[in-house]
Amino acid sequence: MKKRVVVIGGGSGGMMVANRLARQLGDKVRNGEVEITLISNTEKHIYQPGYMFIAFNEKAPEHFIRKQETLAHRTVQVVYDEVTKIDPEKQKVVSAKYQYLYDYLVIATGSHPDLDSVQGLREGSQNFYTLDGAIKLRDTLAQMEEGKILITVDVPHKCPAAPLEMALMLDDYFRKRGNRDKIEIKYTYPIGRIHSLQPVADWACPTFEKRNILSETFFNLEEVDPKRKVAITMDGTEHSYDLLLSIPAHTGAKVILDSKLGDESGFIPTDRYTLKMIGSDNIYVIGDATNLPISKAGSTAHYQSEVMVTNIANRINGLPETARYNGKVACFLENSLEDASMITFDYQNPPSPAATSDLLHWFKSVYNELYWLNARGIL
Ligand SMILES: Cc1cc2nc3c(=O)[nH]c(=O)nc-3n(C[C@H](O)[C@H](O)[C@H](O)COP(=O)(O)OP(=O)(O)OC[C@H]3O[C@@H](n4cnc5c(N)ncnc54)[C@H](O)[C@@H]3O)c2cc1C
Repeated sequence: MKKRVVVIGGGSGGMMVANRLARQLGDKVRNGEVEITLISNTEKHIYQPGYMFIAFNEKAPEHFIRKQETLAHRTVQVVYDEVTKIDPEKQKVVSAKYQYLYDYLVIATGSHPDLDSVQGLREGSQNFYTLDGAIKLRDTLAQMEEGKILITVDVPHKCPAAPLEMALMLDDYFRKRGNRDKIEIKYTYPIGRIHSLQPVADWACPTFEKRNILSETFFNLEEVDPKRKVAITMDGTEHSYDLLLSIPAHTGAKVILDSKLGDESGFIPTDRYTLKMIGSDNIYVIGDATNLPISKAGSTAHYQSEVMVTNIANRINGLPETARYNGKVACFLENSLEDASMITFDYQNPPSPAATSDLLHWFKSVYNELYWLNARGIL
């Protein structure tokens, strides 16, 4: 009997899984024994790390956008639809116009910043976590001659290093423009150090001091008053700003909340090794949608896709499921617009930032171009 694999979400994780599976199961997909359906609620596939380069006007937005069907393997059926309900008992997912039956389901619905998580944030802040946000920020930065930039961070959020990188890149951007002495950059973080990973905090701290990037820890945003341009923290302190650059707490997709499959923020309880939804044998979860206490990052989704595809393909081929995800994450750390560090880590081994170099920044730039091969399941 034909095996149906349904993937919900055509972002990094979903596209990689669908394409890798199509390649791995080549003959079986071609002769109709296996059907792979990728359901995406958008025709655009956006390489989100590109938002930072858009904000600094290094690349135009189109550089980081492709149509989903140009990335999907020719044997993957791409359907543009919004899944509204996942029904594990009936092994189906439902939209307003159709229902899709599955034997194996991959949930790759990602996460997004909740701009309403703090009163006044939507009106009072800017961000680089959405396409529109990055474009607006680019235009704001281009016109900014002086003033105070306040960066606030709430958890959880994707790409944990991005806020810190943003502070370092802003510093370089205004130095190159010749007005750094007129711009105050203040970076804040909700816990007692400037990054959740101690080695990353240790890496960034001396650089912040050297480059006069101010920082404050235990900074928990409670409210924003856009009229007075003031951010108010939980202890009642008011912090004035000219540009509030905010990374709001993220939530999982609405369909996860509506289907009651996740925690209160919409993240799905997931086995850290098999990547199966807890309590299910045929639902897999990838990338930002999981509740795993690891970085929500494209590289995480990449390494997870290798494990997931091997296991699903093995099951379809009647073989045991033995691949295990070891928690691997790899991340470049931009130190400016010209140099970078890099970390890799997993469940057992903490990160240790590499020496900062021009070469690592160059590798990051190269990866930005190679990403499309990765999404196609070739790299
Ligand atoms: C500014 C920024 C910088 C970043 N930098 C890095 C970096 O340097 N390195 C790195 O590894 N990662 C980075 N990331 C993180 C990375 O982009 C994400 O972690 C990655 O995209 C997660 O992949 P995903 O497939 O889980 O989710 P996504 O790529 O977000 O895809 C989820 C998809 O599901 C779709 N969807 C949601 N609900 C439904 C539904 N009901 N029906 C159908 N489709 C649905 C969404 O529209 C979306 O297309 C960065 C992110 C940002 C914002």
